[in-house]
Amino acid sequence: MTKTIKAIRGMNDVLPTDISLYQHVETVLAQILFNYGFNEIRTPLIECTHLFKRAIGEDTDIINREMYNFNDRHGEGITLRPEGTAGCVRAGIEHSLFYNQEQRLWYMGPMFRYERPQKGRYRQFYQIGSEVFGLKGPDIDAELIIMTARCWKILGIDNHVQLEINSIGSIETRKNYHHILVNMLEKNIKKLDNDSKRRIYSNPIRILDSKNPSMQALLDDMPSLIDYLDNASREHFTELCRLLDLAGVSYHINQRLVRGLDYYNNTVFEWITNSLGSQGAICAGGRYDYLVKLLGGPDIPAVGCAIGLERLILLVRSVFPLLKTQKVVDIYLISSGQCAKNSMLTFAEYLRNQLPEFKIMNHFGGGNFSAQFARANKLAARLVLALGENEVADHQCTIKDLSNGIQKTVSQYHAAGTLRALLTNTPEKKNKIYD
Ligand code: ATP
Ligand code: MG
Repeated sequence: MTKTIKAIRGMNDVLPTDISLYQHVETVLAQILFNYGFNEIRTPLIECTHLFKRAIGEDTDIINREMYNFNDRHGEGITLRPEGTAGCVRAGIEHSLFYNQEQRLWYMGPMFRYERPQKGRYRQFYQIGSEVFGLKGPDIDAELIIMTARCWKILGIDNHVQLEINSIGSIETRKNYHHILVNMLEKNIKKLDNDSKRRIYSNPIRILDSKNPSMQALLDDMPSLIDYLDNASREHFTELCRLLDLAGVSYHINQRLVRGLDYYNNTVFEWITNSLGSQGAICAGGRYDYLVKLLGGPDIPAVGCAIGLERLILLVRSVFPLLKTQKVVDIYLISSGQCAKNSMLTFAEYLRNQLPEFKIMNHFGGGNFSAQFARANKLAARLVLALGENEVADHQCTIKDLSNGIQKTVSQYHAAGTLRALLTNTPEKKNKIYD
């Protein structure tokens, strides 16, 4: 027997039953990004491996363990993008989008990371990201966060997410703190877990967000990065907090939040939820003032964030477990007899011209009227339009409202008007995502 071929581990199919929810969430987010003045950018799924190494940092988990790398036919190192910022910056530099102008860009698409697949963590996952170039903040940092808060509110999940913010200061701040931290960790080397031992010289700052309770207890007794902030970074952070207070966006200052990518500085933030088990971050971001220059562009500041679409969808689903996502059929067309079937093919086109906003499906596959009605019921169609030989001869058709069983015969000339009136008079409940 032929062995069936399955999808690659950690890569998901989004099936038609789920797609309306994805489309709904994507439309809401795209609309909000538009409202805030962001323009969409689409960049390739693959880039040179160097780009990610330089942008994300050699000693990060993403670069060390999670990238899909391969050589193309000429031996050039290629990587499936693990995140969207690096490609976005590369494209902006390449097309001179950053000279003497600010840019607000957004993107959506699949990212690839070789991680252990589990609920909310996949090897191909979608991000919707937004990046602002050319503004120092902290006012724009605040607006970016306020914009994400609006996304949660419109999706109805705002009571299920919390904002965590922190400042990791300038590169200088981190260099100074790095020495202090390594010193303190060395004194406690026996108490470090294996992960932290591995990171102590390569990326000690990352130890701060260790999830291991014994590591957290150890770190509780050590001075925090936030205590070592330089004045400018401290002012930036204080002002961001003030602006968030002013906007009524509540937050928790998490002094351990450092993020896993090296390009961040000053502001870092995460939106987290308790409803999804351990994969609780649905959106993460921060400031990255050094990255554009590091990748060969002008010396301009930037701030951005990315939403994990699958996790967001899981959360929307957990908050609205009964939501109906399949768009129902508005009008199901049935016919009996060869002559009626032939007429229906062209009549269906006429109806689609007249009623472009509705889902109109023609029945195929034969069967008598009662079998065809059964099919309409199974599809939860709202109206059925039937053509028999007599109706064709009289230029008429029969319309039945499946919600109340009322049916009437009307001239084909009046069919579109009658259908529209019936569809716009009945509440369109089944088509709504939220009841
Ligand atoms: P995590 O804490 O889950 O490892 P991260 O810090 O690696 O996330 P970022 O690189 O900042 O995450 O990506 C932004 C968002 O993308 C995350 O908050 C999350 O919602 C989503 N995300 C990241 N990795 C995955 C993944 N493997 N599968 C699904 N979503 C992901
Ligand atoms: Mg990760």
